[in-house]
Amino acid sequence: MRTVYLDNSATTRVDPRVASAMRPWLEELYGNPSSLHVPGRQARAAVDTARAQVAALLNAQPGEIVFTASGTEANNLALRGWLCPPGGEPGHVVTSAIEHPAVLETLARLERAGLSVTRVRPGADGIVSPERVREALRPDTRLVSIMTANNIIGTIQPVARCAEAAHSVGALFHTDAVQAAGKFPLDVRRDGIDLLSLSGHKFHAPQGVGALYLRAGITLEPIIHGGGQEGGLRSATENVPGVVGLGAACEIARTEMAGEASRLVALRDRLIEGVERRLPATYVIGDRWRRLPGHVCLGLRGFEGEAIKLLLELSERGIAVSSGSACSAHRAAAPSHVLLAMGFDPITARGSLRITLGRFNDEQDVDALLEALPAAVAGLTPLTTR
Ligand code: PLP
Repeated sequence: MRTVYLDNSATTRVDPRVASAMRPWLEELYGNPSSLHVPGRQARAAVDTARAQVAALLNAQPGEIVFTASGTEANNLALRGWLCPPGGEPGHVVTSAIEHPAVLETLARLERAGLSVTRVRPGADGIVSPERVREALRPDTRLVSIMTANNIIGTIQPVARCAEAAHSVGALFHTDAVQAAGKFPLDVRRDGIDLLSLSGHKFHAPQGVGALYLRAGITLEPIIHGGGQEGGLRSATENVPGVVGLGAACEIARTEMAGEASRLVALRDRLIEGVERRLPATYVIGDRWRRLPGHVCLGLRGFEGEAIKLLLELSERGIAVSSGSACSAHRAAAPSHVLLAMGFDPITARGSLRITLGRFNDEQDVDALLEALPAAVAGLTPLTTR
């Protein structure tokens, strides 16, 4: 049975053009970028090209990009690297209550070591208000960290205004752009972003490679120590095939972004309208318009708490979607911290279905979901009879 893959916020299929760019580095070329001989210099040149491609996606300079093994690591490097200087004062951080665990858990750890953390809640629309961020600032605030787009509900946050607020007290601004990079235009200069995390596997590069943008002039404390690669910030022999793949994915995303975003918005709207027509009990969670082009998060009135069962029913029918987030598979029964922060009650906060479209989806995929969904819902037990 062919799988209709509609879980592109969890991970994406590697673009064949990305795979082609990587292939020589898996099969024939294998120099260590730190070696001085010809194979080493070839590898260094490939890493440099990829660095320029990542920088171009963000309107940054190549020297401002640090390669990492994931978005999680990029977030850890930004937060720990800035907030844990040896012998420094812990200070205060403002973040949102709807960040990914890669930010929330890292800050919770630092909090136990003396850092003070304010977690701003979003509105019922899943948008974090820059005014609420501003109100949370203190004279000792060292960092504001607000994600560019949320991984569960897909809402896009007003990062430029949050960055402006951070700078008003001399704090840095970090954004977790793991869900946003490659999906819509990011510009670190225009938006005043000091630190930005991204991850290749969310936009058609392979898993296991990410990057941190670090504005020139900012000094971070490394979190991995060793041979001094990546300007001393991320010791370890570079993942050359992965980095080459990330560079190629950034180049494709940058050149095709405008057309691809409008194609995905049209597919997303076909999906939302189709679902609302077939199942009037459904509602879109999070702001209807300020959302990622291919991202839909649905609630189903009367079937709250049945999301896992629904996604398994759909999976039986060859359709892959997610409930809340892939990361929460480890805590499948727990209500989503994002929905709780938006004001949903704990039962409803367990009931969301996340459907995320990507480059390899088309109208047929959307229609396959629309066809399967009513039958899958018919197999659920309504809340009233439980
Ligand atoms: N931040 C956000 C918003 C995410 O959605 C994810 C992954 O789902 C991550 C960070 C972690 O990225 P990675 O899987 O590359 O560690």
